[in-house]
Amino acid sequence: MNGLRTQPAQARRQVYVPKLDICSNCMLQSSKDGPQLRLCTGCQQAAYCSEECHRADWRKHKVQCKQTDRIIFDSFYPFLAYIAASFREPYNCAMHPALHLKVSNKIDINSQAHPLVHLEENGPSATPVFLSQDIRGTESWWPLAPSVRSMEKLWKRIANEGMLVATLLPICIALVSEIYTTSAIQPSQNTTPNRCARLNCCEKPVTDFGIVQGRAFVTGVDRLLYHLTDINYPWHGQDPDDHYRIYIRTSGNAEWYLDLGMYTFNMACVVDTAPYRKYNLAECSRTVPGYFVDKKWTKPCGAHSLLFEPKRYMSVLRDPRAHRISLSNDFGRESVADIVSMMEEIAGRRCRMHEIAYASEFLSLAIKALRQNMCTRDWVNFSPSPKVDFETDEDEEGVMDATPEKEALVRFTNRWAKKVKKGKETREHFSEVAHNLANLPQDVRLKKLGVQN
Ligand SMILES: [Zn+2]
Ligand SMILES: [Zn+2]
Repeated sequence: MNGLRTQPAQARRQVYVPKLDICSNCMLQSSKDGPQLRLCTGCQQAAYCSEECHRADWRKHKVQCKQTDRIIFDSFYPFLAYIAASFREPYNCAMHPALHLKVSNKIDINSQAHPLVHLEENGPSATPVFLSQDIRGTESWWPLAPSVRSMEKLWKRIANEGMLVATLLPICIALVSEIYTTSAIQPSQNTTPNRCARLNCCEKPVTDFGIVQGRAFVTGVDRLLYHLTDINYPWHGQDPDDHYRIYIRTSGNAEWYLDLGMYTFNMACVVDTAPYRKYNLAECSRTVPGYFVDKKWTKPCGAHSLLFEPKRYMSVLRDPRAHRISLSNDFGRESVADIVSMMEEIAGRRCRMHEIAYASEFLSLAIKALRQNMCTRDWVNFSPSPKVDFETDEDEEGVMDATPEKEALVRFTNRWAKKVKKGKETREHFSEVAHNLANLPQDVRLKKLGVQN
């Protein structure tokens, strides 16, 4: 982190936390039955109880208003997904035992017929991955793989496994540090005024973000259990019952999610990294996990709830520890203590040494990449509708522009959400049907989804 904090505006850095429930002029607080505030249409970063208050505050507000940029999260999130994968994939390649040992069993992801194992008596089931022999330096990682694509997919699922809290927390802190500390106040008379940037999501200003812990609904087929055959030692892959996402709240109390952790469960929603390759981060896959729960997934009947149930929230934007880290100049021992305390709070357990080292190192990388983006205003170039894809085992080649398929998939999930809500179907049955659908060859899947091609 040395050398990162030596900008001229450093002395003026302070964290800005949006206050959109208070009139910027008379400080009147909005409430459900009481006064409703309107946002300033120029910047969406100030709220007013009346036309009079807006006018009265304008002399003061106009400087700030005209210098506020809106970063659209809907087009920004693939960049965050890329930063995360560029750190996690190389890390797992070096550290994950399953990528260093030979996979010795036949795993047919497409058939429900292959034997699952139960993690404990009457507990959830999982797909066993039997490991033997160190294969470092050879190319025969999974000799029984049904196809090259299946092999690449399993490899990528493992390379993107785990480290969720240690990945998501640094991303949130980096957003606070690089976006919510920018200000529209002139740092000195001789320099150009700082523009300030604030996040916008699904057309509304962001009022809060952080990490949510909860449960992902995953079938046994999509869950992995590793087994070292030589010494008869099993261990669990990522645990869907202890899942984490970034949540983003906007004015009007709508909630959206960014999920970077479900790929390992075969929920293969990915984004294209090509537009961000100029950042010179470590080598990672061309497409990386990135599932953004936007309007389509939340309306009309909350299709996303079939995949995830949120339980515990921790705001990062509003956390004094995140503010301290964002404003610290040297990222010393105190910052690490703050990171550890935040990680342990959301995880509800003690963190391991390697997670702490991972989070600290990843935080400086995430801050660096975000700072470069802010300084060059590169986010302006990001596509308003980023390319997404659903990667399956069977397709010959992924289709990068999968918008019609995405829409059809959302409609399909919405129909299921309705049935589950009415009690006519179960989440478990949905997971099974969705799993089968995801693993059909693309042309068959598109036909099933009713997409004309
Ligand atoms: Zn007012
Ligand atoms: Zn304004």
